[in-house]
Amino acid sequence: MDKEKIKTTVILRGIGVSPGIVSGRAYVLDRCDVQALHIKMESDEALSKETERFQQALADSEMQLRGIKDRLEDGEGIGPLFINVQIMILRDRKFVESTVNYIRENRINAEWALNLTISKYRDIFSRIDDSYIKGRIKDIEDVAQLVFRYLSDERCERVADIPEKVILVARDLSPADTVQIKSDKILGFATDVGSKTSHTAIVARAIEIPATVGLETITREVMTDDIVIVDGTSGVVIVNPDPEILKRYEEKKRHYLVLEENLLREAHLPAVTKDNHRIGIGANIEFSDEIASAVLHGANGIGLFRTEFIYINKERLPTEEEHFMHYTQVVRGDGIKWATIRTFDLGGDKFISDPRLSDEMNPAMGLRAVRYCLREVELFKVQIRAILRASVYGNTGILIPMISGVQEIKTVKKIISEVQDNLRAEGIPFNEKTKLGIMIEVPSAVVIAEYLAREVDFFSIGTNDLIQYTLAIDRVNERVDYLYQPCHPAVLRLIQHVVNAGHQAGIKVAICGEMAGDPLYTLVLEGLGLDSLSMTPLAIPRVKKIMRESTLKESKELVAKVMTFTEPQEIEQHLRTYMVQRFPELCPLTNE
Ligand code: PEP
Ligand code: MG
Repeated sequence: MDKEKIKTTVILRGIGVSPGIVSGRAYVLDRCDVQALHIKMESDEALSKETERFQQALADSEMQLRGIKDRLEDGEGIGPLFINVQIMILRDRKFVESTVNYIRENRINAEWALNLTISKYRDIFSRIDDSYIKGRIKDIEDVAQLVFRYLSDERCERVADIPEKVILVARDLSPADTVQIKSDKILGFATDVGSKTSHTAIVARAIEIPATVGLETITREVMTDDIVIVDGTSGVVIVNPDPEILKRYEEKKRHYLVLEENLLREAHLPAVTKDNHRIGIGANIEFSDEIASAVLHGANGIGLFRTEFIYINKERLPTEEEHFMHYTQVVRGDGIKWATIRTFDLGGDKFISDPRLSDEMNPAMGLRAVRYCLREVELFKVQIRAILRASVYGNTGILIPMISGVQEIKTVKKIISEVQDNLRAEGIPFNEKTKLGIMIEVPSAVVIAEYLAREVDFFSIGTNDLIQYTLAIDRVNERVDYLYQPCHPAVLRLIQHVVNAGHQAGIKVAICGEMAGDPLYTLVLEGLGLDSLSMTPLAIPRVKKIMRESTLKESKELVAKVMTFTEPQEIEQHLRTYMVQRFPELCPLTNE
């Protein structure tokens, strides 16, 4: 009976986070999540034993993490960085003190006290708007699992111990697991939980192995040694495919590889339409060591460097030299013609322990991004100084997030000018012509774009937030996800208005939201007159190819047509039909 069930073909749909197709034997990783028991401690002696046990588990956990870090081949890159974050959490004073206090005050065992600490952090993180930061509760949960295991003395499998070429199936993978994944050993992976901004997804893309997350039940549907197909492009996973499906996917995989190889071979070609309209192509990066991949995939420059990641991976505020090191690395990157460095877009500096921000009722509209920088001016000045100092090494732009009015940008300019005066007085060189731009991601900024255009050198439209604020939908709330519509007529009109206002003032207008990397919207954005598009590196070759095969004339006609529709569904349907017919290879029909 069981055997029958195992052999049944099961098709699951999740979120494709790293493109490509792979098939092979599954290896189900037993994460053996440890459940905490609630035990009351009667004697003081028992209580101090619990505190000691907790301290010992922290020390053992740190030793294990340091061991993993040492085994990672080089000391640079994302891998060791993630381990550092975990070690940082283990040593976080508030994390440790909170648990010890729970043990003493509630007279409970260490496991239950740790459980209470995690619940408290979950509550705090659930109120943070930024999807990336919100997702970082995972880091704390992973660290807690490690400590739980030492408390309970359970031994669990680690990714490093997996012997052969397999497709990894797990409820979730911790950063410590993912950084040990080597593409020659793990062919791909599929997990029950996860999102596009999770560490797991970032690492999968960085090492370029197909991955699908958010499958909900994959660990229940599959057993070790089952044959599994992971399609990380469409987000589909097939368990125990019949020979017919297997054959079809082998064909699809061959086709995908040939197409990707061809696209990559041509990735360096400029994004120039057949009627000679040139569009700048930038990469969105979160870490300075993504430059090589950005260039390989055909970026001319870095359109968005999300610098908040520099803050996130630190237990203290980064120094000016640390900022400077990251920015020079980006600005001087081989093959990088320009780099746009976005200033800090975060709600809090010490993201785990700053209660001022996590207590906000509505963090998306709270003390975020430039608002925070204008409150914490010294922190802002350190960053501006470092960017200006890096500007002598390459074509650099400063990008300010979340500007909602003219006064804000005037204040920012005054601060930049003070920093420049200081640098001059100290004889420190910087490029006097460093360009200043703003993210257009708040509807008020769209409406007054012509006034803002007088103040800055360029605009970059952040559709991720602009859509959220325009359509009044929380971008991380899955219950209103159906309303997150980049092709809503209101959104397209806002983009059109910004482009017109920018061009009338003689400044360039870029777009750097996720929409820029979705081939469905390539022609629309081209036709709307955007000067450059910035996107995740892997998306670049396809978008450039579509542009090279199109004409500006046809994309303008397409825009004129979609602007006649009143409903997002009509626009989406029209675009889908048009793009699939026009570029059958590059915009495949549906996600299988
Ligand atoms: C945006 O809002 O579109 C954007 C690019 O910025 P982020 O996703 O970092 O908020
Ligand atoms: Mg934004």
